[in-house]
Amino acid sequence: MTFAATILTLYPEMFPGPLGVSLAGRALERGDWSLDAVQIRDFAKDKHRTVDDTPAGGGAGMVLKVDVLADAIDHARATAKAKIAAPLPFRGGDGGGGAPPTLTLDENPHPNPSPEGEGLAGTAAPFPVLAMTPRGTPITQARIRELAAGPGVIILCGRFEGFDERIFAGREVEEVSVGDIVLSGGECAALMVLDACIRLLPGVMGAPSSGAEESFEDGLLEYPHYTRPVEWEGRAIPEVLRSGDHAKIAAWRKRQAEDDTRLRRPDLWERHVGARDRPASGARRKHRDQGS
Ligand code: SAH
Repeated sequence: MTFAATILTLYPEMFPGPLGVSLAGRALERGDWSLDAVQIRDFAKDKHRTVDDTPAGGGAGMVLKVDVLADAIDHARATAKAKIAAPLPFRGGDGGGGAPPTLTLDENPHPNPSPEGEGLAGTAAPFPVLAMTPRGTPITQARIRELAAGPGVIILCGRFEGFDERIFAGREVEEVSVGDIVLSGGECAALMVLDACIRLLPGVMGAPSSGAEESFEDGLLEYPHYTRPVEWEGRAIPEVLRSGDHAKIAAWRKRQAEDDTRLRRPDLWERHVGARDRPASGARRKHRDQGS
């Protein structure tokens, strides 16, 4: 199934941008995902195509107008819904195959996993809508996994001072941050979120196992990597990695991942230890950290 990405932006020419090359680019060409970059300005209400206005209460900058944003989101949701209900384009190339499969909303094998399942006026909202904002919940790999398992995503990119606050509750929009930094616009943030989703789509990454050990997948940073030359400017690849002893290598990597996480990301480490030591079935588990 095609993962359908819709980007609502004042700069549609920024897409696919970096996602048009390498793994994501080839996946786009294959049709593993689709991209619709929609100009927010097309939903402006006046002949000047105004999308922003001065902040209520005064202050610097401009705020994206809620009525314009709402129309853009409604359009994107309706288009996305139609896409899911429509027969998938036949991409075979092998000459055979018969009729293309039809996927209806009810049969969607990847229902929207987010709690905001019900959308406008009680109709199902098949696509999660994310707004990029530094005020949002920091995005996590777990949320990316949920999104990648779904039918796609609509991403709203801000500019200027950001969005009129009423849009979030008014259209069930999830506020997402890509970190404690301030960008000039939501487009780079949207590219990050999309890139992270696309690499998880079936068939996009070369070796299916290469995603399993990545940073964050088990709540830890990944262990460090090395490759030839064995010695470089007096720095050698750790002996154990050249030993050929797979059990020893696995143990070393586990320890590195744990040590690095504890030192670099105490926040992740706390959560990891908490989750690890939480009894799964009411049985008390021994505190494994003892003595280390
Ligand atoms: N006035 C806002 C910042 C606006 S920056 C504030 O102080 O919170 C302009 C736009 O860039 C935002 O609307 C948002 O879409 C995007 N943006 C900036 N930083 C971001 C971040 N850390 N995560 C996601 N989007 C961000």
